[in-house]
Amino acid sequence: MEPKKTILVIEDEPHIILGLKDALEFEGFRVVSASRGKDGIAQARAERPHVVLLDLMLPDLNGYQVCEELRRLDAFMPIIMLTARSQESDKIRGLDAGADDYVTKPFSVGELIARIRALFRRISRPSETLTFKVGDATVNVTAHTVERAGTTDSLSFYEVELLRFLHERLGQPVSRDEILNKVWGLEASPTNRTIDNYVVKLRRKVEAQPDRPEHILTVYGYGYKLVP
Ligand code: CA
Repeated sequence: MEPKKTILVIEDEPHIILGLKDALEFEGFRVVSASRGKDGIAQARAERPHVVLLDLMLPDLNGYQVCEELRRLDAFMPIIMLTARSQESDKIRGLDAGADDYVTKPFSVGELIARIRALFRRISRPSETLTFKVGDATVNVTAHTVERAGTTDSLSFYEVELLRFLHERLGQPVSRDEILNKVWGLEASPTNRTIDNYVVKLRRKVEAQPDRPEHILTVYGYGYKLVP
């Protein structure tokens, strides 16, 4: 039997911690929790969890600050942000801060567990290509980085997965629906708008002129296409 995977829950509402702990332990995970941001960071350092569930509104630090701190600690630690807000701008900010995914409260525990499992599935998938070129940028799938013109940027989990998927279909238009299915793996969410936001961020890291992309191209009314 493989050892239990550890999930760190950083959340200040006791009933949510309890509910998550019950449900996740029932699913065979080991759960540790913290009710403040600073404790959460300390726990992450000590426990090296397989995934972090991070509340956006905490009593001491906000979730974005915690997320950035966790990223500094470990660039690969998967982070799912739990947010009570539904505004797109908060989600984008969370993803910018380095979260891999987010769920909006109130969420169903079933959905959250499906997301966690989807993250694990992708992490355990062997990487067939370690690096590839997009124009003059070098994407390193293993290190989650992209290097261009002497600068190295880190890539979030979904940024790498999106680039990798487009690269598998090099030169072919790929629909947003297919991207959602293959990269995010769940039909319910996120939305097409999420993909567009990711593309904007990737262009900033990959393209010489992000507002005049030459490699990550929009296929109007359909999706995207990666050209070498
Ligand atoms: Ca809270």
